[in-house]
Amino acid sequence: MQATTGRRCVFCHSPANSGEHVFAKRLCKRAGAIRFNVITGLAIDGKAPITRPPHHLEAFTVRHVCTRCNNGWMNDLEIWFERHLGFLIEPQWPKLALPMIDALKIENNELARWLMKTAVMFNLATLRGENRVEFEHAVLLEAHPPQKQQ
Ligand SMILES: [Zn+2]
Repeated sequence: MQATTGRRCVFCHSPANSGEHVFAKRLCKRAGAIRFNVITGLAIDGKAPITRPPHHLEAFTVRHVCTRCNNGWMNDLEIWFERHLGFLIEPQWPKLALPMIDALKIENNELARWLMKTAVMFNLATLRGENRVEFEHAVLLEAHPPQKQQ
């Protein structure tokens, strides 16, 4: 177990003792972007931009979740995404992409949950200015499966 940050998990309010990859390492690898350089920053009109040192996409992490959420339902969502949509992030666009996408329409709820989880993590990983993005608690509840809430 990793040391806690004093923060609480944004989903279940347990101690935030886990580092979550904003973009799962397995997805970065599948997309051929494991060594993709990222520079995060904040730009405000009339002010010099604030940036963090460059790092690889695989090292883009946040410490706002607990081990149980990270290794449980959040990991399950990443596995779901790779199984159902991984073909869309590979460097080579699939020949049968449109029929494959059409067949995934019945998975729209899982896709929405994956998108909300990823958006919440991305937001927590970015520098914050005056116009900070806040998620309603309902969004967090939608991403977090009801059967595993604490
Ligand atoms: Zn949690």
